[in-house]
Amino acid sequence: MASTKHDSCEALLIDMVAFDTVNHHISGKADAEVELARYLDAVAQAAGLDTRSLPLGGESKNLLVFHEVDAAAPWLLFESHLDTVTVDGMSIPPFTGVIRDGRVYGRGACDTKGTGAAMLWAVQQYARAGGGPNNIAIAYTIDEEIGKTGVRALAGSQLAGLPWKPAGVIVGEPTMLQPVVAHNGIVRWTIHTRGVAAHSGNPARGRSAISMMVRVIDCIEQRYVPTLAASHPLTGKAQCSINVIRGGAQVNVIPDHCEIQIDRRVVPGEDNRLVVPAVEELLEQLRCAHPDIAVEQQAPYLDPPLDPAGGEAFAADVCRGLRSLGLPDEPAGVYYGTDASQFSAAGIPALVLGPGSIEQAHTRDEWLDLEQLHRGVQVYLELMRTALSVR
Ligand SMILES: [Zn+2]
Repeated sequence: MASTKHDSCEALLIDMVAFDTVNHHISGKADAEVELARYLDAVAQAAGLDTRSLPLGGESKNLLVFHEVDAAAPWLLFESHLDTVTVDGMSIPPFTGVIRDGRVYGRGACDTKGTGAAMLWAVQQYARAGGGPNNIAIAYTIDEEIGKTGVRALAGSQLAGLPWKPAGVIVGEPTMLQPVVAHNGIVRWTIHTRGVAAHSGNPARGRSAISMMVRVIDCIEQRYVPTLAASHPLTGKAQCSINVIRGGAQVNVIPDHCEIQIDRRVVPGEDNRLVVPAVEELLEQLRCAHPDIAVEQQAPYLDPPLDPAGGEAFAADVCRGLRSLGLPDEPAGVYYGTDASQFSAAGIPALVLGPGSIEQAHTRDEWLDLEQLHRGVQVYLELMRTALSVR
């Protein structure tokens, strides 16, 4: 195992980058993050911090690092995911963590081991100074890039099993240290049509699933998409598009199956659980008008939007901390999803804030600017020292 003592935050980040934590849905390697979680557990303990493993089945776990100053103080939770996207096609060594031209290069350097290293570095300084207005916890979670199983378990059940409830959560993603308080949510699902196969020499003996799907697509594009009127000042307009179609087996067979995949972006304030039922109503009308159409929807993948409503007081606390460092404090919205929405959906105020730019995330030569990393430590430490108005 790499050393558990470091003389700089970038040295810690380089040791974190050295762990291959490519998401298991991509790599096929089970428990992809467990070695890194064990390592961070050892680093935190060596620094005198407390830790707790929150099991997820198999070897997998979320890791909680914490520092309690006072049983009566509010808890400020930080969160950073341990997994990364694929290393295929990268133009640099993915796990070597080279420093060049004031940048740390490597998969995950920016998204988002940089935020995870900065949080751990900041809490060590906070603990060494003694005292402070807040108790601090850092959750290192798994599987953010694909399934969000880590944060779903954390926000859904694991936090409820702890003796304290966080007053707010800072989710680490590269935002150039701008406070992000809003993003859209996602609904993705598949619609199938079922026909009857027959020889193409006598099409009347069959029923084409593709012809059925033409009517389904027409229904969605003409009668559903134009009705989407919701919008949010920070994240734009509700969106819906049909982006995958598959159907038919070969050119001389009437197709008995066709499917489409739909991507719907819901804005803060919309309920993503109502999307598929709204489409179902239109499909039911279509079935009534054309009884030969056999169409069904599959259960959707749901990721809620990050809604700033209800989190204003916590956001104001964070913005006050940023202002005291002379940094921009204008709350922003972004187009990409994060773990933050799972916390806000569970009633815990959450915002996204971290060093580095999303422009470098998922790239062939992923890197994080060292100046951003150091400023990230400074910002996280300042927030740990900021008295919260919420609890
Ligand atoms: Zn990320």
